[in-house]
Amino acid sequence: MNLKFLGAAGEVGRSGVLLNTGNEKMLFDYGIKIISQAEGPLQAPKIPLKVKLDLDAMLLSHAHLDHSGFVPNLYNRGYRGPTYSTATTFDLARILLNDSIKLANLRNQEKYFFKEDLKTMEKNEYRITYGQQFYVGKSSIGIYDAGHIPGSVSFHVNTGKKSVVYSGDIKTRDTELLRGLEPIRENTDILIMESTYGEREHPDREIQEKQLTEKVRETLEMNGTAMVPCFAVGRAQEVLLILEKYGLDKYPIYLDGMAVDATKIIMKYPELIRQPKKLDKIYKNIEKVYNNRQRNDAAKRPCIIVTTSGMLNGGPIAHYLEKLYDKKNCSLTLTGFQVPGSAGHTLLETGNYVTEENNFKIKCRVDFIDLSAHSGRSELFDYVKMIDPKKVFVIHGDSCDKFASELKEQGYDAHAPQSGEVCEI
Ligand SMILES: [Zn+2]
Ligand SMILES: [Zn+2]
Repeated sequence: MNLKFLGAAGEVGRSGVLLNTGNEKMLFDYGIKIISQAEGPLQAPKIPLKVKLDLDAMLLSHAHLDHSGFVPNLYNRGYRGPTYSTATTFDLARILLNDSIKLANLRNQEKYFFKEDLKTMEKNEYRITYGQQFYVGKSSIGIYDAGHIPGSVSFHVNTGKKSVVYSGDIKTRDTELLRGLEPIRENTDILIMESTYGEREHPDREIQEKQLTEKVRETLEMNGTAMVPCFAVGRAQEVLLILEKYGLDKYPIYLDGMAVDATKIIMKYPELIRQPKKLDKIYKNIEKVYNNRQRNDAAKRPCIIVTTSGMLNGGPIAHYLEKLYDKKNCSLTLTGFQVPGSAGHTLLETGNYVTEENNFKIKCRVDFIDLSAHSGRSELFDYVKMIDPKKVFVIHGDSCDKFASELKEQGYDAHAPQSGEVCEI
C-alpha cells in the first residue's frame, strides 16, 4: 500500500494525493496553484503531477480551486470513473471551474479542460453527505465535516488493513458562518494533513471582527466607501454576517462578483451553516451588483462593498480601486491570507497596486485583518492529538518540513513529502 504526492508538497496549492491500497486506487483532490500577475504577466496556473487514469475514485474535499481545479482534466483525458463529494462542493466548484475556463480564454493560456469536460464530470458526480459511509471496492469511506467552507469534508478510509485520514483544509473552531470540524474518533493509522498555519497562530477572532467593523464604521463616518475584498466562497458570507452582528447592515451594502452566486448556492444548503435565517435576511436586504454601471453608482456614495477577489488578483475590486485609490476617506480592508506574489501581498509590502492592467500607488487607507478559514498552529497540533495516528504526512503549507520536525519532537512519526514522492504505508 502506498501514497503518491502529486502536489501541495511544501506549498499551498495544486493538492493531489494518490492512495493505492493494492486493491483500489483513489485520488484525494486534484487542484491547481494560481500564480499572481504580480509575478509576471500572463502566468498560467501551476498544475499537479500527472496521474494514470486507472483510478477507482476521485475524492474531492472541497470546492476551492487548489483542490478542485484540475479534476475536469481527468475527464478531458478520458477518465469516466466517479468523483465523490458533497452537493454543495459540486455546485460551488462548478462556478469556480467555469470561471477558470473563462480566465484561461481571456489570458490566452493553455487549456487543460473545456466546458464539455465539466459536463462529463457532472455525469460522474456522486453526491455524499456528512455522517454517511460509502465503498470504493473493498475500502469503506467515512465523511466528516471539515469546518473550512460550506460542503468541505475530511475523508476517513478503511481499507480493511489500514485506516487513512485525508484532512483536506480544516477549521477547528466555529465561525459566524460555520460550525468547526467534526472530530474523527475512529481508529486511524495514517493522517495526511494540511499545515497552512503551521507556523502561525490566529489573532483573537473577536478582536479581528471588531477591527473590521471599526474600520468600516470610521470610513462611513467620513462619507467614504469601505471596500472589503473577499474570497467568494465562505469569506464573503462570513463578512456579511459580521457586518450584521455589529449593526452595520443599516448602511448600504453591495455584494459583487462571484460572491453573489456563491452566496445563492450556500443558501441552498441551510443545514450546513450556523445562521441560515440571518444570512437569508441580510442577502435579501443588500444590493447585488452585476455590471459596471452599478459599480460606478456604488463608488460614488458612502457604502460597504463586499467583492472578489480576495487577493486583489482580479474581479470587480480592480474596478473599484481604479475609481477610489486616491480618496483618503475611503478604505480597503483585506480579510484573509495574502499569498506571496499576489497583488494583495504586493500592496501590503509596497503600497502599490500592481496587476497586468494596473500599477498605481494606493492612497486610501489599507488594512489587513485575519478571518482565516484554516486552523491555527496550536489547533493543528490538537488535531493530530485528537486523531492520534501512527504516522503523519504534512502537506499544504509553506513550512511543512518544520511542522513535521516539530511533530517528531512531540513523539509522532511525521514526514513532509516531496512532490512526486511515493511513500509505502
Ligand atoms: Zn480551501
Ligand atoms: Zn487549500
